[in-house]
Amino acid sequence: MDKPEKLMIDGKRLDGRSPEELRPFKIVAGALERADGSAYVEMGNNKVFAAVYGPREMHPRHHALPDQAVLRCRYNMAPFSVDDRKKPGPNRRSIEISKVTREALEPVMFLELYPRSVIDVFVEVLQADAGTRTAGINAASVALADAGIPMKDLVSSVAVGKVEETVVMDLFKEEDQWGTTDMPIAMIPRKKAITLLQMDGHFTEEEFKYALDLASRGCTQIYEAQRQALKEKYTMRKEEE
Ligand code: UDP
Repeated sequence: MDKPEKLMIDGKRLDGRSPEELRPFKIVAGALERADGSAYVEMGNNKVFAAVYGPREMHPRHHALPDQAVLRCRYNMAPFSVDDRKKPGPNRRSIEISKVTREALEPVMFLELYPRSVIDVFVEVLQADAGTRTAGINAASVALADAGIPMKDLVSSVAVGKVEETVVMDLFKEEDQWGTTDMPIAMIPRKKAITLLQMDGHFTEEEFKYALDLASRGCTQIYEAQRQALKEKYTMRKEEE
């Protein structure tokens, strides 16, 4: 797609949102039967599954740690998830996103409870529209809780940024591509602790502070939906019994 002439028209964004608005989102806990824990997340046009296995024995054994579990995250984009077919398999970008996903989640885990084992987190992006790492972290966080793995809290994530001169919440593809700044953030909303912060582009100090506040508000909304998704799953299970 060519660069649109304007990304903001009369204070509204090209998809009709106000600058402070999240895209419509959906979070489902326990979306896959075979995994120990799973979740499905839509954030706008992003569609992402997360599946968790473990804690289980680490293979290969020499990757195990004597005093804690290893959290092993793999972010993967389906070839059909983007406009130009993506070559299957890992690349530099997916390796980087896998690493920051792990680092965003580790602070809420009790890895010391499971020495010599591994907790595997697979994030599969089926449809991408900017912010897939944030959707993946939201899904992974719910999938870990769904697997019954003890956690201190949930991690919630959203990207904020700047489009023309406006600081905006939750960028979609055109804004990510043609905007000034993209800043994905993950937080433990109740603690206001940041577990991921990356930034492409630039902000003034004032804009940065406002963007952080905007991200915190977005993460809080997502956090409520993550908790609701887990509650719904366990209410349903109880009803089935
Ligand atoms: N993208 C793409 N092909 C790729 C990688 C990314 O079309 O090989 C698109 C996709 O829509 C993605 C967006 O570019 O969501 C932004 O990618 P970025 O690396 O900023 O990560 P994300 O915002 O998805 O976390």
